Amino acid sequence: MSSRAAWLAIFAGTVLGQEGFRVTPSVRQGETIEIEAPPGQFKARLGTLTVPLFAEKGRSVGVLPVVVTHPPGVHRVTILGEGGRVAHEAKITVADAKYPIQNIAATKAMKALGPLPGEMEAMTALHRSVTPERKWSRPFGPPVPDCRNSSFGVLRYHNGKASGNYHRGLDLLSPAGRPVKAAAAGTVKVARMWRMHGGTVGIDHGQGVTTHYLHLSKIAAQEGQEVRQGDVVGFVGATGFATGPHLHWGLYVFGVPVNPVQWAPAVPRCQ
Ligand SMILES: [Zn+2]
Repeated sequence: MSSRAAWLAIFAGTVLGQEGFRVTPSVRQGETIEIEAPPGQFKARLGTLTVPLFAEKGRSVGVLPVVVTHPPGVHRVTILGEGGRVAHEAKITVADAKYPIQNIAATKAMKALGPLPGEMEAMTALHRSVTPERKWSRPFGPPVPDCRNSSFGVLRYHNGKASGNYHRGLDLLSPAGRPVKAAAAGTVKVARMWRMHGGTVGIDHGQGVTTHYLHLSKIAAQEGQEVRQGDVVGFVGATGFATGPHLHWGLYVFGVPVNPVQWAPAVPRCQ
């Protein structure tokens, strides 16, 4: 088959290569694609991002994040085998998530809050953690039993001006002092009182999945500690860049912030 004919066959949904591949067929911007493949050495690629698959119960499995700014439409996920050969291609549909805009009344003191030396670097290192053991399973538990008053993906304005940022997690409207629970099992990689993020706990759940919990009044976990789903890792506060007590909960897949609601569907929106 010519490469053009092969491409058209793929686009028509024809499965090429080995059987036994499964790719989530449709997601919204900011969600995560799940991939399954036969045993072997595989990587999965969407656009410029390539991630490894891992051996799990006699299969190869992986998660592939779709960035919040990914153009909606039909796209290809390519699964690469040994030597970079194409083992499988799947067309996926990325739907427009239509994330709204939210204005934040940032005070002078908040705007002056810069990160401590090493703060941004430590958070980036956390989000890019890739350890081979999968300690998580779905669904993730909500870290607090409260509703979200700011959703993932919301375009942020500060005092009416576009900040150029979108919200990289959920804001859960929790009272100060509420215990914060690990959303899934993992290894605590960050447990620090940072300046911008405030009291911060970051957990590496394995295979490219990490979560963080910000603005904590108190930290109840140590770096290097193994936690199970539901273990208390800290307490809700308003430290760092926060207008009042709440929990900012972030979930990253291979360094890309994704929508935690897809992983923890039990988190309700505030009425
Ligand atoms: Zn937030």
